[in-house]
Amino acid sequence: MTGRGEIPLVSTLKELCRMCYSCVRECPAKAIRISGGQAEVIADRCIGCGNCVRVCSRNAKVVRGSKDRVFDLLKKESSVAALVAPSFPAEFPGVSYRKVVSMIRSLGFKYVCEVAFGADLVSAQYRRLLKEEAGGKSYIGTTCPAIVFYIEKYHPDLVDHLAPIASPMIATSRAIHKIYGDDISTVFIGPCLAKKDEALRDDLAGDVDEVLTFTELREMLLSSQINPDNLEPSEFDPPHPIKGTLYPIGGGLLQASDLPEDLLSTDIVSAIGHKQFIQAIKEYETLDHNTKLLELNCCEGCISGSGLSQNLPLYARRGYVSNYARKRVSLTDKTEYKKYIDELKDINLQVKFAKDDHRLPAPSEEELREILKKKGKITPEDELNCGACGYDTCIEHAIAIHRGLAEYEMCLPYMVEQLKKVATELSESYKQLVEARQAMVQSEKLASLGRMASGIAHEINNPLTGVLTYSSLMKDELKGTEYEDDLRVIINETMRCRNIVKGLLDFARNTSVEKIAANINDVIRETVNILQKHVTYQNVKFHLDLDDSIPLIEFDVSLMRSVFNNLSENAAHAMPSGGDLFIKTSFDSSKNQVVIVFKDTGIGISEENITKIFDPFFTTKEAGKGTGLGLAVIYGIIERHNGTISVESKEGEGATFTITLPAFGKLKL
Ligand code: SF4
Ligand code: SF4
Repeated sequence: MTGRGEIPLVSTLKELCRMCYSCVRECPAKAIRISGGQAEVIADRCIGCGNCVRVCSRNAKVVRGSKDRVFDLLKKESSVAALVAPSFPAEFPGVSYRKVVSMIRSLGFKYVCEVAFGADLVSAQYRRLLKEEAGGKSYIGTTCPAIVFYIEKYHPDLVDHLAPIASPMIATSRAIHKIYGDDISTVFIGPCLAKKDEALRDDLAGDVDEVLTFTELREMLLSSQINPDNLEPSEFDPPHPIKGTLYPIGGGLLQASDLPEDLLSTDIVSAIGHKQFIQAIKEYETLDHNTKLLELNCCEGCISGSGLSQNLPLYARRGYVSNYARKRVSLTDKTEYKKYIDELKDINLQVKFAKDDHRLPAPSEEELREILKKKGKITPEDELNCGACGYDTCIEHAIAIHRGLAEYEMCLPYMVEQLKKVATELSESYKQLVEARQAMVQSEKLASLGRMASGIAHEINNPLTGVLTYSSLMKDELKGTEYEDDLRVIINETMRCRNIVKGLLDFARNTSVEKIAANINDVIRETVNILQKHVTYQNVKFHLDLDDSIPLIEFDVSLMRSVFNNLSENAAHAMPSGGDLFIKTSFDSSKNQVVIVFKDTGIGISEENITKIFDPFFTTKEAGKGTGLGLAVIYGIIERHNGTISVESKEGEGATFTITLPAFGKLKL
């Protein structure tokens, strides 16, 4: 680490973060990791540009504060100098500069000096460097600590190209110490967050004691109840600058150093703003060029620094700084200026930068493809590059995932797919829940009906047996008499009653189940072979689609045959003018069950009737044409095999009965 404080420069208030990824998008250093859906700043990777602070509409990014330490310093030390950055007119647009000086002085600063003078010293160094190196080495010139940190961390091979010249803040502090004595303390006040970390660099330790942003300065003025209206204006303490006041405007370093960018040549090139500086560095590093000086600035000039509290339009900020610069040129006493320049010409403005490599390894082609695949990006067309994740492309996001900086859930299309899956699963679970609930209600209803039916059947069975026995005896005795036909009617009707009672007992589960391991397809084939010959089925076309790979299952062959008989008979009745009956078997390995489907093309079942279809005595046939026990009995039989039966139908569109039987499992006997 390069001179960092223990408290990170920028951190996230997690409770305020709403995962918009704006900070990820704007961070040039990729120093923001999304973890558990929240943004956290990786202090070691942060270059202090402040972009994340500026773009977070939730104010979830907080900056390491210095106000308390500055108040302490002002209390303890008698000689504290405020070093005011030349962008101050953009912070105090409606206040005369002399009032600004008085306000700062009122906080307890003994001296209030302009950093623009240090900028003039720095300009002289740049002129000298380019003259000495004419035709030789190429330099990256910057007064922006965020750029220095960026190159040290992410382009360490370019560190030797950084112009080894101190920033105006450091130059001013060294000049002020020389003029006012080594025992004074200095506090830089400006628009830049990165200056807070610059002041902590090991190689610059002791140059500047504290760094305040303009926002913090305003808060201190407010808490100290300092009102410019009650103050007498005062002048900055010398030395006064001339052109250094232009530094906060993009390209200001070049203009103030009399090294303007010439569009007809690439000797001196300037790139400002975080998108441009990144691109310029990439090209500088990889392409052949004959640039002698590449001037870089992370913000669009320091007048765009995130430590400004005023949110004026860029050109308004620029206008206020230019106005002051013109005024300062005319106000500064040139003789006195020259005297200070001569007096300070020997102060050391050399600095050394060091590699601080924080580059992360890139994924292999295979690893990258794997991550993209997991995100659902199989083909290049799947890569929407929508930017919702905070990365410009799907590939950049995949690389960030590999580096542990990003999560899959940041990808909007991926999340939409995941949500769709969850929604489908939920709706499937809900459907199963509803079906299970309906089955339970049906089962309970049928169980209580079964108990009642069983009781009634037992009570009726005995008298019926008596009636049948005695009427048969009487018929034999009265054979050939006028009573014989009447007795035959009594016997037939009694037999019909007995069949109903038998049906009730079947439904009430009072008949035994004799299970054997058998092939359900064989039973279906045998049943259909017999049925096809019967007159009832002369207009019904059977279609068998039986899966021969289904396993043997245990069931009562006779009962299951009656199930298939009954379902076929119902289908035939539902197709009075003929139709198709499709019978299909299959094996559902995920649920380990055999599935049997009977699908007809008959009249279907109305919505009103479908919920009652398995109720005993429910029938749509005319009175006397059916007992209404057929499907109730089937239901009872299937239940006793630990299976399920369900029906799907719409009026006029046929009906589909689906039976499931467990392939392996204990039968409920
Ligand atoms: S900008 Fe960053 S910190 Fe702020 S809400 Fe969005 S993700 Fe969270
Ligand atoms: S201050 Fe700049 S470098 Fe640091 S986390 Fe924020 S955007 Fe990234």
